[in-house]
Formats: sequence, structure tokens, C-alpha cells
Amino acid sequence: MSVGESTNAPLLLRLVSEACTTANTAGSIVRKVLLSGELGVVDKGVNDLQTKADRCAQYYIVQRLKRCFPKATIIGEEGDDVSENLEGLLSPATTPPEPLFPEILNKSVPEKLLSISEENVVIWVDPLDGTQEFTKGLVGHVTTLIGIAVDARPVGGVIHQPFYEADGVKGRTMYGIPEVGHGGFTVTPPPEGKRIITTTRSHSNQRVEATLAALQPDEILRVGGAGHKAVLLIEGRAHAYVFASPGCKKWDTCAPEAVLVSIGGILTDMDGIPYRYSKDVEHVNQGGLLATAPGVDHSWYLKSIPK
Ligand code: AMP
Ligand code: MG
Ligand code: MG
Repeated sequence: MSVGESTNAPLLLRLVSEACTTANTAGSIVRKVLLSGELGVVDKGVNDLQTKADRCAQYYIVQRLKRCFPKATIIGEEGDDVSENLEGLLSPATTPPEPLFPEILNKSVPEKLLSISEENVVIWVDPLDGTQEFTKGLVGHVTTLIGIAVDARPVGGVIHQPFYEADGVKGRTMYGIPEVGHGGFTVTPPPEGKRIITTTRSHSNQRVEATLAALQPDEILRVGGAGHKAVLLIEGRAHAYVFASPGCKKWDTCAPEAVLVSIGGILTDMDGIPYRYSKDVEHVNQGGLLATAPGVDHSWYLKSIPK
């Protein structure tokens, strides 16, 4: 029995706990597909790739979360029709029976977050963020993202890095629950007296570049993946994530927003308007993306962005 079903902990905590364990296993699936050497790349559109790893990870995540939370709405990047044979991609070692972060289920939750009902939960899944980078061997840019929204706003998020390795352990899972807590990483504020901005490495255009120039950064980190860029903010390696163009989607930003907010960061569109994550919302983030690390003045960026 999974943690989704088996404890009396508040629904929010069971959702995040289950999402952590699920993302961790999805990461091992992503690694195994890469090791197999058969990526099965499909072109979904201009600059929009999908591989066997995206399909298998999504299939696994959606199946598992559906089993645990049958009344929740789950929206995955790869759509509803994905069905893959996971044989050989799952093993007992990669599907631990225990929760990855047992402490999550014991956290205290504010009153207003105790009354969440499963029918009102929307789970946004990006099984593999940074696909283009993945196909180019830039595996450090890849993340698996599971964002949990209630009343259109992120209430929990999981960012998993399948290719992060420390002390012989493969993969790193990070979670954030606004007003409740975070785990899997250490918050490091970005350096003072400097402005480091991270942005896309593959979807740039004139407006993106003009906006970056107006912000006069000391350094620009052009890296792949919305999840990866959020990790740079969390770890204090950048002050802001700026993308002045439509392109990224709700499954790219729901989990990063939850994790960032849980540590005091902010994520909005380029006008400072928060995104909404209800099930019927448009998938594309039309207003671009401005995210700032904890302690960074979000309003300064909003004021300084050319209109
Ligand atoms: P990037 O920062 O370029 O890695 O983009 C972050 C996320 O948004 C990835 O999932 C990209 O695939 C997606 N994305 C951003 N811009 C576009 C675009 N113009 N077309 C398609 N996907 C995009
Ligand atoms: Mg993505
Ligand atoms: Mg993706």
C-alpha cells in the first residue's frame, strides 16, 4: 500500500510525500532509458521534442498518482494517451516501499490547508523537463517536475534531478510546501552586490535579449529547463530567472513556483501577475516568466523590465 492510501496524515502532505517517491522512481526510469541507448525521439512541433524517457516517466507517474489519488485531476505534458511498457525499467531497488522523506507526513499544516479535498486537486506533471538538452547529452539540465495546485494556486511541488549524483546516490529529489516546509536541499542566498540572471539556452528571441540587456546583469547563465533554472535560484547560483516570451507551460512552472515560494522566492509573469493552475487554464504561460530567489527584490525586476 502506498503512502497515498495508507496514513491519516493531511491530504496535502500525502500528496507531496507520494509525489517525492514517484518522481524519484521516474528519475530512475529516465536514467535507464538513456542507458539503453534507444531514445525514440519524436518531434511534437517546432523545438518541441519527446523521447521514450518522457513517455515512460509520464506513464509511470500518472498511473501511480491516479492509483493513489483517483479523484484528483492529473495533467501531464505528454497528454492522456501515453501508454508504455515499463518492463525492465522498474526494479525493487528503484521502487522503495518506504516514503523518501518520512518527515513530510509529520509536518504541521495551517488550518486552511487541512480542508483540501481530492476533487479540487490538480497535479501538473512534466515527466522530463529539458528534453532538448537530454537529447544532446546535457543531462544536468534535466528535471522531473510534479506540481500540486488547489484553488488554482501551487500548494506543493517536487523537483527531481535524475542525473545529480552525491555520495554514490543517483538522483536528487527536492520538495517545497508553501507555509509548511521544504526538504532535499539547503537554501543558499545568492551573492550580494552582483546580479546573475538565468534564462533559456534554446528558445531566445529579440524580446528575451532586449529584456536581459535592460536588466544589466553581471552574468547570464543560459541553461536548459525551467526546473533546472529554478534549482539555480534555490541554490543561490542566480538571483533571477527571466524569460520574456510565451513558451513555457503550466507543468514547467507549477512545481518550481511551489518550491520557490516555500523558501521565500517569487514566481510571476513579466507583469508580476501570478499564474493560475486550475484544470481548465490555458497551458502556455503567455506572460513569460520572472522568478526571483529568496531575498531578491522582485519588484525591482518588474520596474526595470521594458514594457
Ligand atoms: P527552456 O528554458 O528553453 O529550457 O524552456 C523551459 C521549458 O519551456 C521547456 O520545457 C521548454 O521546452 C519550454 N519552452 C520554452 N519556450 C518554448 C518555445 N518557444 N517552444 C516550445 N517550448 C518552449
Ligand atoms: Mg518542460
Ligand atoms: Mg517535458
